[in-house]
Amino acid sequence: MYLNLREKKILGVDVDGVQRNMIDSLIETYSKTNSDGVKEHDEVREWDLKKSFPNIRLPTHFYEWAKPLFSESKPYEGALEFMEELSDIGKIHIVTNQLRGLEHHTLDWLSSHNIPYEGIHFGENKTVFKGDVLIDDHTKNIYGFQGRGILLDRPWNQDFRGYRVKSFDEIVDTIKNLS
Ligand SMILES: [Mg+2]
Repeated sequence: MYLNLREKKILGVDVDGVQRNMIDSLIETYSKTNSDGVKEHDEVREWDLKKSFPNIRLPTHFYEWAKPLFSESKPYEGALEFMEELSDIGKIHIVTNQLRGLEHHTLDWLSSHNIPYEGIHFGENKTVFKGDVLIDDHTKNIYGFQGRGILLDRPWNQDFRGYRVKSFDEIVDTIKNLS
């Protein structure tokens, strides 16, 4: 019985920057009240959002625009198919840091896109997640993870010097090749 439970790898998957394109929505919501700031997703090249959206008030902006940002943002191209494929090869646990009180937007988003998952962890400290794999776009989460961390290449994580993947297909291949 235990062997069956452990047959498939436990795959932790981040939401923002991996599955959900919150950046395009942020460009829209920010531009409603500001004329500066980046206009394209790939111009966001730093973790510090103030570098891309100079007058953003955080976390106020996230609370004020929670629905468009967290319920209505689009999935990245190929993300839904990717999650389906992952669910065939592993047991998915969503591992995401969301602002207190706004978690329900992410639950709505996951369910409205039929994202398969067996468990969910909300929290800033992702090291408490003890799965086999963590797929994330944030350098610090990969460094802190004890299993196999897989960093998805994004414009804002170019400082990372470890193993990175550039596509969802590459993530699937990497996981299939884990012994
Ligand atoms: Mg992320």
